[in-house]
Amino acid sequence: MFSESHCHLRDLTEEALRKTENDGFTLLITSGIDLESSITAVQIAEKYKIVKASVGVHPWYANEYNLDVEARFKELATSREVVAISEIGLDYVGRMNKQWVREDKYIDKEIQVETLASQLRLARELGLPAIVHDRADGTEIIDMLIDSGNIKTGLAIHGFSKGIEYAKKCVDNGIFLSVGLRTIQAGDPEYLKAVKWAPMEYLLTETDSGTPQGVLIVCDLIAEAKGLSRAEVGEAATRNLMRLCNL
Ligand SMILES: [Zn+2]
Repeated sequence: MFSESHCHLRDLTEEALRKTENDGFTLLITSGIDLESSITAVQIAEKYKIVKASVGVHPWYANEYNLDVEARFKELATSREVVAISEIGLDYVGRMNKQWVREDKYIDKEIQVETLASQLRLARELGLPAIVHDRADGTEIIDMLIDSGNIKTGLAIHGFSKGIEYAKKCVDNGIFLSVGLRTIQAGDPEYLKAVKWAPMEYLLTETDSGTPQGVLIVCDLIAEAKGLSRAEVGEAATRNLMRLCNL
């Protein structure tokens, strides 16, 4: 049993989905990054049984969030297929623009923080977990999440990439850590130490891409760090994700 806590299944075909199911995947959460892609995510989730959707405005486009977008998200969330608010967060590193070209400049920090706070409020209001992108400094996001009160409705850090102190702060506050393919494959010893330390009941798996099969590699690498089997990691991460998303 395997799962994706965070992917972007823009052009999923029936055939690709069948292959994923045959590999043992039972749950894929496909995430929007703005209003348009959030609508698409819900449409994909409505079509395929193992796919669920999350809706949100990515920090790269934080300036696009407003009351109209919020109202549309509320409408979308009336679908049972919407199980989380994501992709939301802070990114002080840079951004991909709408032409999918990397830029060093990012949306004003103030706007990003405001958009994140609004979407955390939305998650609380809807009783949905928030899955958060963190490319801010230190533990800025964790401090904001602890103050937000969203712990009650569920929180996860997607593409968790920081060290053991950060991981401890998350786990102590009931925040899940989603381990991504690129980060764990990079093999930074400090990161692997954090993964090894983190209790399995707080870990999720993801590729942040359109090809969920990469989760099998994530499971192998977590298994290696923790002395478990691929199947044990996959099963635990999937149960955790179901718990987070009330499934
Ligand atoms: Zn993403």
